[in-house]
Amino acid sequence: MNPNFFQTPIDYLKGVGPNRADLLKKELGIHTFQDLLNLFPNRYLDRTQFYKINQLQRSSADVQIIGKISHIKTVDQKRGKRLVATFKDENGTMELIWFRGHKWIKENLKLNVAYVIFGKTNWYNGTFSMPHPEMELLTEYEKSLRPVMQPVYPSTEKLTARGITNRVVNSLMQQLFLEAQNSFSETLSKPLLKDLKLLPKNEALLNIHFPQNQDLLARAQYRLKFEELFYIQLQLIRKNLLHKAKIKGYPFPKVGEYFNTFFKEHLPFNLTNAQKRVIKEIRHDLGSNAQMNRLLQGDVGSGKTIVALMSMLIAIDNGFQTCLMAPTEILSVQHYNGLLELCKELKLNIYLLTGSTKTSDRKIIHEKLENGEIDILIGTHALLEDKVKFKNLGFAIIDEQHRFGVAQRSKLWHKNKFPPHVLVMTATPIPRTLAMSVYGDLDISIIDELPPGRKEVKTVHRFDANRLRVFKFLKDEISKGRQVYVVYPLIQESEALDYKDLMDGYESISREFQKPEYQISILHGKMKPQDKEFEMNRFIKGETQIMVATTVIEVGVNIPNASVMVIESAERFGLSQLHQLRGRVGRGADQSYCILMTSHKLSENARTRLETMVKTSDGFEIAEVDLRLRGPGDLMGTQQSGVLNLKIADIIKDQEILKLARSYALEILRSDPSLSNPENLPIKSAYIQLTKYKNIWNYIS
Ligand code: ADP
Ligand code: MG
Repeated sequence: MNPNFFQTPIDYLKGVGPNRADLLKKELGIHTFQDLLNLFPNRYLDRTQFYKINQLQRSSADVQIIGKISHIKTVDQKRGKRLVATFKDENGTMELIWFRGHKWIKENLKLNVAYVIFGKTNWYNGTFSMPHPEMELLTEYEKSLRPVMQPVYPSTEKLTARGITNRVVNSLMQQLFLEAQNSFSETLSKPLLKDLKLLPKNEALLNIHFPQNQDLLARAQYRLKFEELFYIQLQLIRKNLLHKAKIKGYPFPKVGEYFNTFFKEHLPFNLTNAQKRVIKEIRHDLGSNAQMNRLLQGDVGSGKTIVALMSMLIAIDNGFQTCLMAPTEILSVQHYNGLLELCKELKLNIYLLTGSTKTSDRKIIHEKLENGEIDILIGTHALLEDKVKFKNLGFAIIDEQHRFGVAQRSKLWHKNKFPPHVLVMTATPIPRTLAMSVYGDLDISIIDELPPGRKEVKTVHRFDANRLRVFKFLKDEISKGRQVYVVYPLIQESEALDYKDLMDGYESISREFQKPEYQISILHGKMKPQDKEFEMNRFIKGETQIMVATTVIEVGVNIPNASVMVIESAERFGLSQLHQLRGRVGRGADQSYCILMTSHKLSENARTRLETMVKTSDGFEIAEVDLRLRGPGDLMGTQQSGVLNLKIADIIKDQEILKLARSYALEILRSDPSLSNPENLPIKSAYIQLTKYKNIWNYIS
């Protein structure tokens, strides 16, 4: 068999003319034999049973019937026409109905010839009918390679309308198997197959398309899912290893004066075990001469800042400069003040650079950066400007990863001879399995433990009708000296409306909480940076008790005295956003509260989000639910969705297989990095094949 057989353009398969080829390409992305082979069914229908028309029940189950068409007519209806065929078996009559594709059906259906029909039945006015049945001539049915479990392939409306029904796809698949003569080469190694008791490739392919029974189908699915996930992991891990071998970084061999002094004398609290573990992981990376590329995940309040600082101290101990970049001005300022406070005994030069840094100050900073006088530079995107040149940037930290794109990150990289080590910190927990698939080429550290003594934020769900009771509660809390956030959604598409909501809300709160007893701050995206800063500072200083805001306060803001978070129209927020917002409270010693306000009209999905928030404050658990509700593509943005464009595996349902696949891929690459061990040859050639024909598995970037 020609080794490139599976790369043959789909046009050359018997039964596929230019028209069908065109449709298959456009609608399903099937260009080659291989693509068709990898079109895996969505589900399977059990076609072991036949029904008689007079046995039909008024259920909507899929049934299979043998009979003949005696008559076809077109019936006018309100909109368009429908095609109705009278279908009979020995002792019953029913109707077959089509709303589309009339021409093709009329031309191709045969009268008074036995067909096997399959589909859902409806019952109306004493007659059963079956809309858009799957049909096959009985003679064809009997001689075809007949699966017991009928596969249902992914399809589109256009495909069905143009006559490429599931049955056609099925017969193309039969044709392909006929021509391929079972020449599918094994793509996994013998030890893997044996270890995991996997079906061989040819049996797996046969049973995924033509399952012999439930058991073999399950095993075929398992094998192909494993294979798909295994090769993604193999690629990601290999990319990581290659990166480490290729991209040199500055080695920071010593842990010196600054780190030790800080650790021994100025550490304001005992580190949690998770913090210790992560610092160790980072220290290990910085000590090697490969460039570090690490993602640090830790829930809000888990204490990432101290980890950031201590790793920066290692770089400074080795004579290098460091920087910390945050997505907003407010956050940068907060980091700046926080680090100044932590480092006040250390004699370090720490500077802040943001969009609102004065030109004169800017010049000084540029100079000090270039002659190496600045140890830590903190700021916003302003750090990425061309004028910002470090003498020797050795370590860059990026806070809140999701706000920066990859291109921006690499801009930092190109500032120096060697790229600096990079630590990306995110407070948006990503489910472990998703992180494995999307960031599988990065190293990941996780802080999965909160500092001791944290009180869980009490979270409740209240309907708008109970607003007065909520106001009363806020007054009680304020009288104890606490501060309150009231947050309104601001979503791009309906900005004007949302803005009005915010202003209406502000007004009603102003009416309820009157001056001079109460002072209210307001913060939203339309305000000038100075005004925002001003309002924020009034709240930070405790001059105002209530902060009415849009989600601009979402990220990182730390005001320990604010202990109540009211989220208006909470049903409009996504889970991760709700979780982020709630993370703004519960930062001080007091019991904190989060009140989710909604109307009575809630979708199923919204209800689940609210229930999840009330039930748990574990960011990783919340992320899991979010993943289930939104799916991986939505969660990660379209940017990375290619990685998640899986053909058969499901990142949510197949987490166990994913973990298994990753651990095997790791093990194999560890023991045989170049895959040259003879027993790994099938893996090597499959891997090469994959990277050669990019269109086969489109998640290769
Ligand atoms: P985040 O991970 O959200 O950036 P921070 O670094 O801002 O969290 O830490 C949140 C709060 O917890 C800060 O006030 C910080 O001082 C405090 N904190 C961090 N680590 C510890 C610890 N090990 N023990 C006690 N408090 C800690
Ligand atoms: Mg933080």
